Parts: sequence; structure tokens; C-alpha cells
Amino acid sequence: KSSNLKGYAPICLGLEDFYTRRLYLRIQDCFGRPIASAPDAWFDVVERYSNDSNKTLHRTTKTSKCLNLGSYNYLGFAAADEYCTPRVIESLKKYSASTCSVRVDGGNTKLHVELEELVARFVGKPAAILFGMGYVTNSAIIPALVGKGGLIISDSLNHNSIVNGARGSGATVRVFQHNNPAHLEEVLREQIAGGQPRTHRPWKKIIVIVEGIYSMEGELCKLPEVIAVCKKYKAYTYLDEAHSIGAVGKTGRGVCELLGVDPADVDIMMGTFTKSFGSCGGYIAASKEIIDHLKHICPAHIYATSMSPPAVQQVISAIKVILGEDGSNRGAKKLAQIRENSNFFRSELQKMGFEVLGDNDSPVMPIMLYNPAKIPAFSRECLRQHVAVVPVGFPATPLLLGRIRICISASHSREDLIKGLEVISNVGDLVGIKYLPVEQEET
Ligand code: PMP
Repeated sequence: KSSNLKGYAPICLGLEDFYTRRLYLRIQDCFGRPIASAPDAWFDVVERYSNDSNKTLHRTTKTSKCLNLGSYNYLGFAAADEYCTPRVIESLKKYSASTCSVRVDGGNTKLHVELEELVARFVGKPAAILFGMGYVTNSAIIPALVGKGGLIISDSLNHNSIVNGARGSGATVRVFQHNNPAHLEEVLREQIAGGQPRTHRPWKKIIVIVEGIYSMEGELCKLPEVIAVCKKYKAYTYLDEAHSIGAVGKTGRGVCELLGVDPADVDIMMGTFTKSFGSCGGYIAASKEIIDHLKHICPAHIYATSMSPPAVQQVISAIKVILGEDGSNRGAKKLAQIRENSNFFRSELQKMGFEVLGDNDSPVMPIMLYNPAKIPAFSRECLRQHVAVVPVGFPATPLLLGRIRICISASHSREDLIKGLEVISNVGDLVGIKYLPVEQEET
């Protein structure tokens, strides 16, 4: 009933699905519009400004410029860059935007081979394989690794691409409580021994799938503990580093580097190029045997057009900057900056009493709102005050665990961050957030 939420008061309807006869909940505003299509709350059509590190979104339909606190542009590479951009333009002239061929026909350029070698070296595995899309990397690779007779044990909050890959694999899928290695062990014990002492492993193969940084939680994976459990039960580990590769670790090598894990202890490393590297596509890095196997049997490698060459060149250049192989120390500076920015923003939000999920060093910061009706209201009010945040609700999260999500970039200045904090604080009051008690600092 709050006037701040005018037009967003939620109405929950129990509806019956015509085909499955299952009941489901639909949440809509008082005009009968699903909350997900609440006007003004989502970014709609945007224009970007490459020359300001893509920190500004221009909402073309509303003609308003917004500070972008919603992109995965962790290192600021999704923008014109003095090292990357000229090389990307050259590759576009040389190779064009598409190979119009699959890798095994005419789609295998020198750039693709170079990036596979570079990714393998960067993440510390013997070999790597590229895919045109991060989503497809999970959804097509998981079925190529495990099938009927196999067992997948998946974190309960894994990304939809993993969920779909697991479902499509034909393997048995079990879920363990989010980021809870003790529960993972319980599930494994139950599945291996069936609760009874058994002398043989009933599964052809067991794969445990986790994420480096959970995209809706901002939390770091308890990777050392997960690996210890996997080793004990002889399960393979599959790590999705979409949000952690390039974004965390002293030299940008992701959660393994940050948490002191030897990459040799992770069997399959997956990552995307759509975040820290400012490009598109995905990779799997693993042993030579696994990569060879994937090259021979994975339909998304054999039947899909290879990654766009300029996109490949962008990743090659970005990794070279991160590694300092461009002859500058810009990469090291970006990594130090994203860490400083993330930790500053998180601690300021906490001081204001917001319930912020996630761990230090993580650039992903969800602020809990709970009430589904407050998600579009919060986002809309932020947009009105020229700050873009990402509204996240059902089905990406459970129904009553709605939130807005902030992604911090190395390219945000202290001024940008302070502006973002001021707006979020105003909007928190306006929308009516339940703040947490904040400990007073001793003077
Ligand atoms: N894995 C995770 C954990 C993700 O968050 C995402 C998308 N944000 C993907 C995979 C899919 O990656 P892409 O957007 O590059 O297709």
C-alpha cells in the first residue's frame, strides 16, 4: 500500500498450467502486468559510451544517462582500450566478423589456436577448447562429459546453463546445499554406498559442479573443501569461473589463485569471455585427454560456427594486458583497482545497514530486498536518479529472496562509487528497506 510502491503492489495468483496441470504462482502488479514487465524498472534499449569505459548507459527510450553499476565489465575491457581495440580492428579487417565455418571445416584460424594455448597457460591447465557462447559451453559440454550411468552432483544455486547441461546429459542429477561441502559429502556417501556398506562404485563417473563466484550471491566457492571431498570419493570437479576468472586473484587467475588451490586439483575448468575480458564466448580447460575427447565428440565444437575472430582477438589482447605482456603494468593496476573498489563499496553498503551478500574481494554484490514488489521499484527509483542496478527476482532466485545486484568494475572511479552509494541509500529509504543494525565505530 506504500505510495512509493504505487503500481507495484504484488498480487499473487495460483494458476494451473494448461498442459502439465501443475499449479504455479504468478506475481503481478495491480494492473495485471507480470512484475517482470513493470515499466521503468528494466533497462530496455540502451546505448553505450565506449569512450568512458562503458560506465554510462544511455537509455534510448528515456533519454537518460545512467552510471552503470550492472555490467560484468569487471576489468573495464568492455570499452575502447589502447592495446586491445587497434588489434581487434586489425583482426576484423583481416578475418571479418565471422568465419562462417565450424572449427573442423574452415573456421580454425591462427587466432583460435593462439587463444586456446593462451587460456590453458593462463588458467594453469595443459589444454583448452573454445566455444562461441559461455552458456553453450556449460549446456553442451556437460552432456559430452557424462551421460547415462553417470552422476552429477550440482550446487543448489548453480547457473541455469549448468542446470540445463546436467538435465540434458541423461546422467542422474543430485543437488547439494549451496556452498556446503559437508552436505556434498553426505550426498556423495549416500549415492556411493546407498546408505549401505558396498564394495563397488555404482556410477560410471561422478562429476561435482560448482562456481568460483556465485553470480546471484557474490559468494566465493569453498573450493579447497569441495576438492578434498571430491578426492576422498574419487569424483571429478567441474568449476565454472564465469565471474571469477580475470576478476579475482593477484594476477587475475581466478578463485584457484585467490584461495591457494593448485589448478591441477580441478579436473575441468570452465569460464566465459563475456565478463572480465570484455568479449564473448567460453572455454573449457582441462587435461589433453579430456580436451581431445571434447574436440572429437562435442556437437557444439563439431557443428557450431567458431568464435568470431575479433572476439577471439579481444580476449587474446585482454589476457596479454592482464599478464603485463603488452609491456605495461595496466593489468596489475586494473586488478588492484577492482579489488579496492569492490571492498570499498561492500564495506560502505554494510556500514549503511544494507544486507549485502557475498565475500570480500568479490565484485558481485547483491542487496537483499526480499519482497518481490520492491525489486522493480528499487531499480526504477535508481534509474530515475541515473544509476543502473540489476533487478533480480524469481525465477533467478527463490520467490521471496528478491534482490538487486551490483557489479563493480575497475573502471569505476571513487566519485562514481560515492554517487552510487548516495543513490542506493536514498532509494533504500524511499522503498522501505529493513536495515540491519550497524555496529558503531569507537571514537
Ligand atoms: N555461467 C555462469 C555462472 C554465468 O553467470 C553465466 C552468465 N552470466 C554463464 C555461465 C553464461 O555465460 P555467457 O553469458 O557468457 O553466455
